[in-house]
Amino acid sequence: MRLNIDLDGKGRQSGSINLPSSTNDSAYQQIQIPIVALSNGDGPRILLMAGNHGDEFEGQIILTRLARQLELHHIRGRLLLLPAINLPAALAGTRTSPLDNGNLNRSFPGNPRGTPTERIASFIEKTLIPNSDFLIDLHSGGNSLNYLPAPSVTDTEDEPVRTRLLGILRAFGSPLGYVFSEPPTTDVGTIGSCRRAGIERLGSELGGGGGVSPEAVALGEAGVLRVLTHLGALDPAAIANLPPPSPMKILRRPASHSGYYIYAESTGVFEPFIELGARVSPGQPVGQILTPEVPWHEPLTVHSSVTGTLICRRAQGLARRGDGLMVFAEDLQC
Ligand SMILES: [Zn+2]
Repeated sequence: MRLNIDLDGKGRQSGSINLPSSTNDSAYQQIQIPIVALSNGDGPRILLMAGNHGDEFEGQIILTRLARQLELHHIRGRLLLLPAINLPAALAGTRTSPLDNGNLNRSFPGNPRGTPTERIASFIEKTLIPNSDFLIDLHSGGNSLNYLPAPSVTDTEDEPVRTRLLGILRAFGSPLGYVFSEPPTTDVGTIGSCRRAGIERLGSELGGGGGVSPEAVALGEAGVLRVLTHLGALDPAAIANLPPPSPMKILRRPASHSGYYIYAESTGVFEPFIELGARVSPGQPVGQILTPEVPWHEPLTVHSSVTGTLICRRAQGLARRGDGLMVFAEDLQC
């Protein structure tokens, strides 16, 4: 893979990371993953990515807009903006790549001689992240999930790091923020890549459902700008016209094997009983799975087993056994 801009160059550069791909239709094809670099004087080097999953559109919109609208004289240091990092998936509007079915965020550290998705992961791991001081990695729920929009950080037992990350999370200025307790398997995502390079990361879950939430885009764009200012990468004058930040309620999402995740135990139509943001208690019925092809069968009631807030819900009506239906989070005990 080849980058056709200079990561150490000054000013504004637009170009691409070129991934050779040879197909029946195009023997010498290059997949040209767009990149915009904005470099101005001393300051941190921030990497901003969206489109890791191609069906998550809010982050793609935010970085596409910032790539054109951020003014160079407001930058302190260097921003790298990649609004469609898994370009084949982003162009197809799918979570995984149509070229190899690869899920980029399950492909790290990648393989420079592997599938297209593994080669993109390897380029991020070996070139982009080690040349950056901080990663902003924008995600949404995608085609199958809807999330209450919020930024996220990964939980850690390192207290100084935890305090710094919570400060960055609050700087986003949205009403809600997430702390994710991730299992060790997340080492295959950008979380693992950042850990190996020794840099910190802010993520997000900005809406989802395969569409675009204007509220989540506005919240996400303002949040990214506030965080860039908090990190010293943007002149405060650049955010003078933003609304004041909200006080933030922080919720902790436990690991996915906990009772905070509900999976479908049968196949059918999932009818949720509660909206995103609802509070639940153990034993509460939160939905049911019906089988319209055998309407005389009793629906399967789905219960919460925890006390918490519904932060994520399946976006599609049809559910197969094993599909994730709901995710709850608990109030963070700081
Ligand atoms: Zn994602």
